[in-house]
Amino acid sequence: MPAIKLDGNLLAKTIRAEIAEQVKTFIASGGKPPGLATVLVGDDPASHVYVRNKRKACEQAGMVSIHHALSANVTQKELLDVVASLNADPAVNGILVQLPLPKGIDEEAVIRAILPGKDVDAFHPENVGLLAAGHPRFLPCTPYGVRLLLSRNGIATAGKHVVILGRSNIVGKPLAMILMQKPTAAFPDAGDATVTVVHRGTRDLPSITRQADILIAAIGVPRFVTPEMVKPGAAVIDVGINSVDGKLVGDVHESVIDTAGAVSPVPGGVGPMTITMLLQNTLAAAKIYA
Ligand code: NAD
Repeated sequence: MPAIKLDGNLLAKTIRAEIAEQVKTFIASGGKPPGLATVLVGDDPASHVYVRNKRKACEQAGMVSIHHALSANVTQKELLDVVASLNADPAVNGILVQLPLPKGIDEEAVIRAILPGKDVDAFHPENVGLLAAGHPRFLPCTPYGVRLLLSRNGIATAGKHVVILGRSNIVGKPLAMILMQKPTAAFPDAGDATVTVVHRGTRDLPSITRQADILIAAIGVPRFVTPEMVKPGAAVIDVGINSVDGKLVGDVHESVIDTAGAVSPVPGGVGPMTITMLLQNTLAAAKIYA
């Protein structure tokens, strides 16, 4: 039997409607409309599309979108000045600086300049530390989206063996932090799973991925995960976004659908969830500091 499709478009639509309702309630009880500031530097076409989609989703949820488009030649100081002005602006609850930044800009310095309470991407070391310590302020958007794609489709993680492919700061590492920790009142989304992270330095990687009840691929290598690497019936989440001959493909080969029990498609899986969780974090930021 082919795998169940974990439809991120459908779930994102449902959660965005829930967020829009929560925004209405927040405003009705005297709160200001939550504001998300996006900062886009340069002309990268993919970044333009991502930011446009984030701004549109924000407005559709009843939030305010504030946008700064800066030239690729902007200096580090000018960019840091924009971030400082957004940090000080009470109409701005969340700040998103679209990555990657042009060469010559110190990305880490820019991330650290964002006020942690407005860091809705959750990349600031303070937010990374809070997550690691089990008291997250915000969960980073893509891992948070993966987490909800599992839980809202009834795929339990507690006691399961989760294998994550990739150890990046934006996906693999924080996802491991979320799925391995114990759920508490401060961290209800923690997964209580046994988590293994595999990466370029891993030996005999397929022997480990085959043990996974839940396999999550976030490496950026088109169609890397093949059926022989998947335990029959496992849930497979594909975070990868790769362009091959003008077509978007994931890190998981299409044929895995005949081995896995559930698979998230690309496109239409994790991608729409990522933007949705940005909205969730912006609303959370507005509530924390209202
Ligand atoms: P990255 O390049 O920062 O990290 C890739 C990781 O994969 C590294 O830890 C590396 O060790 C590992 N890796 C690479 N090749 C490998 C191999 N052959 N075998 C084992 N491990 C290998 O990537 P990232 O930023 O985490 O992104 C990963 C993928 O997810 C990309 O395709 C990216 O476009 C996509 N992505 C999607 C979303 C979304 O919203 N759906 C968000 C972020 C990233």
